[in-house]
Amino acid sequence: MTDIIIIGAGPAGMTAAIYARRAAKSVLVLEALSYGGQIINTPDIENYPVAAHISGFDFATKVYEQAQALGAEFKFEKALSVEDNGAEKIVRTAKNSYTAKAVIIATGSQNRKLGVENETKLVGRGISYCATCDGAFYRGKRVAVVGGGNTALEDALYLADIAEKVYLIHRRDSFRGEELTADALRARDNVELVLNSTVRELHFDKRLTSVTVADKAGNPREIEVSGLFVAVGRIPENSDFSAVLELDRAGYAVASENCRTKTPGVFVAGDNRVKDVRQLVTATADGAVAATEAIRFVNEH
Ligand code: NAP
Repeated sequence: MTDIIIIGAGPAGMTAAIYARRAAKSVLVLEALSYGGQIINTPDIENYPVAAHISGFDFATKVYEQAQALGAEFKFEKALSVEDNGAEKIVRTAKNSYTAKAVIIATGSQNRKLGVENETKLVGRGISYCATCDGAFYRGKRVAVVGGGNTALEDALYLADIAEKVYLIHRRDSFRGEELTADALRARDNVELVLNSTVRELHFDKRLTSVTVADKAGNPREIEVSGLFVAVGRIPENSDFSAVLELDRAGYAVASENCRTKTPGVFVAGDNRVKDVRQLVTATADGAVAATEAIRFVNEH
């Protein structure tokens, strides 16, 4: 039996792995896709102490290598459920069942869809949820970004260096994201803010050709773009674990700052838990706290 299974190899999960290994606990990290979580989509991290500028991918790689060097085992399998048998927790994947004394669920969140007709059909043919992954395909073209949070603002800024023109479509006239980034966007000649507007229709032949937006009065405007980058927030990845977690209305795991859940020996860390500030620094902090709690739990049981 492993001491601590960590589900999710984002900054929270991998930091938890580092802390748990430094306490000499055996650690298995289960990850559905690849290490790094959503931070790998951030081109330039400026707000993490010490590293004034580092790409999300480089950051994630360094943390991954650090956790591996300390002896954390990583398996790239999607955890499908967590079962609480008291002293033994069972984590099932499609192929295997793993047992642990404690489990840390650090699964983060996934992209929220816009919910417009044909959105899913056009993914990879004009619709994208990751500017840093797909931006290069739109060099010299016209694109739009939807959203008003930090992701949308940073995506628009990133795309302004690549695309001919960037429309930033936001449903309100003020941004949820940082004012400094919004100012940087306003200073760009090739960025147009389309405020108080929502995307109503997607037009396409084989690929996206234009979008229709409507303002608050319902007035439509068609904007010709070959790419639409959707950045309207995230949905927590907790639904597979509702047997051991209490979820709030939005699906976030209820836990206080000590990362404990309703199930003794099951902890949550990072963006999938109820919290006010979801940042890289708070995710890694959660990893440290959850691991410390899990280590204590393992030592006491
Ligand atoms: P977010 O902060 O939740 O913002 C989502 C945005 O999408 C909001 O502006 C929201 O509008 C809009 N929106 C939501 N549903 C919509 C819909 N159906 N149609 C149109 N617009 C919709 O999400 P995020 O930007 O992905 O950021 C998530 C977290 O990561 C935040 O805490 C953010 O600060 C953090 N983050 C930090 C950094 C960084 O520190 N460098 C970078 C990226 C993200 P309203 O404002 O009207 O609600």
